[in-house]
Amino acid sequence: MTEEQHNMIKWGLIGASDIAATRMIPAMRSSGAAVHAVMSGSSSHAADYARANTVPAHTTDLRQLLELDIDAVYISSTNEKHYPQARMALLADKHVLCEKPMALTADEAGAMVRLADERGLVLAINHHLPQSALHRKIREVVAAGTIGKILAAQISNAGLLHPRLRGWRLSEPGTGRGVILDLTCHDASVLNPLLGIPTAVTAVAANQAEWNREGGVDTAMTLIEYENKNGDRVLAQTIDSFAMPHAKTSLYLYGTNGSLQVTDAMTQDSSGAITLTNAEGNTAFPVDSNEDPYVVILEKFAEAVRGVGRPAVSGEEGLMALRVALAAEESASSGAVVRLR
Ligand code: NDP
Repeated sequence: MTEEQHNMIKWGLIGASDIAATRMIPAMRSSGAAVHAVMSGSSSHAADYARANTVPAHTTDLRQLLELDIDAVYISSTNEKHYPQARMALLADKHVLCEKPMALTADEAGAMVRLADERGLVLAINHHLPQSALHRKIREVVAAGTIGKILAAQISNAGLLHPRLRGWRLSEPGTGRGVILDLTCHDASVLNPLLGIPTAVTAVAANQAEWNREGGVDTAMTLIEYENKNGDRVLAQTIDSFAMPHAKTSLYLYGTNGSLQVTDAMTQDSSGAITLTNAEGNTAFPVDSNEDPYVVILEKFAEAVRGVGRPAVSGEEGLMALRVALAAEESASSGAVVRLR
């Protein structure tokens, strides 16, 4: 069997979204999978979307989608729909690749993880960064002991939100709007595997974009305390923003023997670059990868469905990232430190 045949998942799309059209449908096709149908709440949008993306079938009825001959669903609706739609899909015996944040509460996310386990189905969360070539390389360099024990980390995930994405993401209450569930959640998906168990979170947030005076928060700074496997505390700081023009993303890791500076660390497009600074000076670790991180996620998903691998980011890992983001939201609104255990 060829690699393409191995990856031949028959997908149903739940949510006629931008990310599905711009990233996931092309990634599904290039990983050898087939997109069978799309479901949207609006029948005209479903029909237009199916035509524009050459998807053979469309519906507004989730039950109808789940009755089709599909193996798995990719959920990229607005955030508040992720849990109820994932639940229905799992109950219909479909494997699920769900967008982040996987749910709006940790209880919902935990229920999703348990349901997938009980039914023997794959649940994966579409955090694209952790299994990208860049972040795999960062973890490899860290695991080799190159910078010693990590003491602290800093992520800058600030930029200017593209006008086409400025709808519900900031303006619609009830959708899990705001930069924290959108971007801090991604930061946590990167930091958690590097630093250990998140134990406490403190955050401040603001509306800084001229075009977002009334919406959900568009800028947040978060401090996260971790406990590493030796029981030591590790400190992390993140800045997430939709309001910062001409900003570049980065990740800095500070260790007992050196530090890593990673440029373009949090993007969908750039492969990024890693510089090690230690007693010998600076060493570059360019990451020369044409790999599409979404294709990596889909290939690992297909392996997990075949029972020969695990998802790039599992439901449990998505839940851990969500817990950090929810704690940041709570802290930003209460002003208190939120303890995770
Ligand atoms: P979109 O705004 O493009 O789509 C979200 C939903 O809005 C769609 O599912 C659709 O609802 C509705 N919608 C969009 N356009 C129309 C229209 N013209 N007419 C009627 N309804 C419309 O969202 P995004 O693609 O930006 O985000 C979707 C999800 O993906 C979010 O959970 C987000 O957090 C996540 N995301 C993840 C990324 C990653 O890298 N992992 C990157 C970007 C987003 P319906 O469900 O009814 O079809």
